[in-house]
Amino acid sequence: MSILYADVNWQLALDAVQQAKQIHIIAHVSPDADTIGSQLALYHALKSMGKRVIMHNRDIAPYICRYLPAVHDIGHGEIPNEVMDADLVIAVDAGSLGRLGMQASYFEGKMLINIDHHASNTLYGDVNVIDARYCATGAMIYDFLQHLHVPLDASSAAAIYAAVLTDTASFRLASVSADVHRMTADLIDAGADVELAAQSIYQSHKPARFELLKYALDSLNICHDGRTAWISIAYNLYEKTGLCGEDSEGFIDYARSIEGVDIAIFIREEKPQEWKISFRAKAPCDVGIVAGKLGGGGHQYAAGCTLFGSLDKVQKEINHALVDILNS
Ligand code: 5GP
Ligand code: MN
Repeated sequence: MSILYADVNWQLALDAVQQAKQIHIIAHVSPDADTIGSQLALYHALKSMGKRVIMHNRDIAPYICRYLPAVHDIGHGEIPNEVMDADLVIAVDAGSLGRLGMQASYFEGKMLINIDHHASNTLYGDVNVIDARYCATGAMIYDFLQHLHVPLDASSAAAIYAAVLTDTASFRLASVSADVHRMTADLIDAGADVELAAQSIYQSHKPARFELLKYALDSLNICHDGRTAWISIAYNLYEKTGLCGEDSEGFIDYARSIEGVDIAIFIREEKPQEWKISFRAKAPCDVGIVAGKLGGGGHQYAAGCTLFGSLDKVQKEINHALVDILNS
């Protein structure tokens, strides 16, 4: 193993972990494989150090993570007493306190470590280890394990691999350096199963997903002289197919894959009148700024937010937020 970024200061986080009696690791709401993979890798590492650790999130882990060791030990929903009793909380991959989906009072009297790779992170922790150079928060955990002097076991390696694979869109983003590939080689040496990951994440879709995909592609609309591509799915289509937002993961990649399209926008109605928006961009566009204007956040090439009201109203709001980027 070798450290990806040796200049990152982990000392305060290390001290807090050493002193902690009961640690709660928390992922963000609507968790993805980066936040869950980071949570699991850290869980395995801290357990191997003999720490008392518990994982608990607001929302259930996505189906694509079902193959990761200990994923079923992650609690969700109502907060049990042992979580309340934690003296240290470690948040992974969450750009703001709101993204943790907990009452602010929960954090009172607890030390909070915030580990994240979103440039827009609001530094809400008592200790903040934030670095947007990392391709995934999972890659930050890879470095953190080395500072903790915990060897990489097969369970942590699988979890970090899932995080990195998904957050780099299968090693296709500019954040994928030669060092990222060297780390990935380490993960595979330590036991990450590349084929199992691919099958679980990319080749286990429900047939009904393709019913939904037909509707999504039917809604494809290319605007702004070919520079933006829009896809939308209304709530009744999720109801009709018996699917949820998670089942349309990846649909936005069809919109981004179109030649000449700089920005892809996917608008899905997860609850009536509540729309989850995903943005994807090609260089040099920055959709993190666009999502930020709409109350969300994310990265340059992948960002999101939630908007309310009719589809027409939501599209107008997005169009308004896109004006600057499309004119620059
Ligand atoms: P996705 O489109 O896959 O849901 O999210 C893409 C990126 O944007 C991820 O890094 C995710 O954390 C971030 N993101 C998505 N929705 C929101 C949001 O509502 N608020 C913030 N702050 N970030 C978001
Ligand atoms: Mn991430």
